[in-house]
Amino acid sequence: MAHVKLHIPGPVEVSEKTFKAFCSPMIGHRGQGFKDLYAKIQPQLQTLLSTKQLVYLSTSSAWGVMEGAIRNLVQKKVLNCMCGAFSDKWLDVSKRCGKDAEGLQVAWGSAIRAEAIDQKLATGQFDAVTVIHNETSTGTMSPLAEIAALKKKYPDVMFIVDSVSSMSAVPLKFDELGIDVLLAGTQKAFALPPGLAVFAASPAALAKAATTKDRGYYFDFVEFQKNAEQSMTPSTPSIGHVYALSSKLDEFMAEGLDNRYARHLKTNRMVRDWAARNEFTLFPDAGFESVTLTCVNNGAKPGGRTTDVAKLQKLMKERGFLIDGGYGKIKGTTFRLSNMGDETEATIAQLIGALDESLKLI
Ligand SMILES: *Cc1c(COP(=O)(O)O)cnc(C)c1O
Repeated sequence: MAHVKLHIPGPVEVSEKTFKAFCSPMIGHRGQGFKDLYAKIQPQLQTLLSTKQLVYLSTSSAWGVMEGAIRNLVQKKVLNCMCGAFSDKWLDVSKRCGKDAEGLQVAWGSAIRAEAIDQKLATGQFDAVTVIHNETSTGTMSPLAEIAALKKKYPDVMFIVDSVSSMSAVPLKFDELGIDVLLAGTQKAFALPPGLAVFAASPAALAKAATTKDRGYYFDFVEFQKNAEQSMTPSTPSIGHVYALSSKLDEFMAEGLDNRYARHLKTNRMVRDWAARNEFTLFPDAGFESVTLTCVNNGAKPGGRTTDVAKLQKLMKERGFLIDGGYGKIKGTTFRLSNMGDETEATIAQLIGALDESLKLI
């Protein structure tokens, strides 16, 4: 069967080159070969995140580390900032870990703002806060710098940030932000196959984790640090992913990170312009639109054109493109188009061409 190209916001399309790297011959994870591989990518990851901290590799999807951060860093009570399906779920996950947790809910499509977090943290009840930088379900990007600035006011609160669908597509300077955990799964903007997560933790987070009970083993941050110091992972990693990540990071560096960020802005602008040209509005509040995907409003909010999303998806699939028909409670009343990963002006022009053709047939 012909391959249908992924333009859903994760997993995204994986290149032949990346798959080739993924299929490198197997090596032992305690041998020099693996240590050399991890030691080679470590400075690249540190450059990507502008950090002096070691960057960890977790063989899991992002949720493993999202849950791990709760288990490692929440002793008192966690504030889960909620603005869409993934961030809403984090409250549920915190509770399932047996933690005292409270949600700070804003309407889907709205961003999380520092002022609202400040009010909550001022109660002194919380020792951790979770934020999703780019809420993929609604295509909304919250202002991370503004939120991270609160860390100075609340130095004892752990700031845990999910950048699953923004890491490597926008600049994220871990040390400068001053936050405690920054994590991402690799099937989004990294354009790797699903199954690997990368994350960094601050010295304060590591110190706190060491004093937290019942943090388990698989996602124990102390184990990750101890092993990363030896260019290893706590348990056997998906070595194919590490090869693929190494290849990808070489591509990032060859392109130049600033060029990579600019490319995402440019391709995203093309998709948004397509939406505007066709009289669609966007779902996120103005000024907080994601730059890695576009969540098109299709009746979820008043205003703008609407179309038959199921039909649009079908017509797009016939043209070789998989697009997303909306997530969770906004399924059908929105649809999403991803421009993250390896997409270029040329490939997004092809997507737009197919969208135009499809719309004419509805
Ligand atoms: C995709 C996604 C997740 C979940 O990732 P898994 O790979 O399913 O664990 C979490 N947060 C955000 C923002 C995402 O986009």
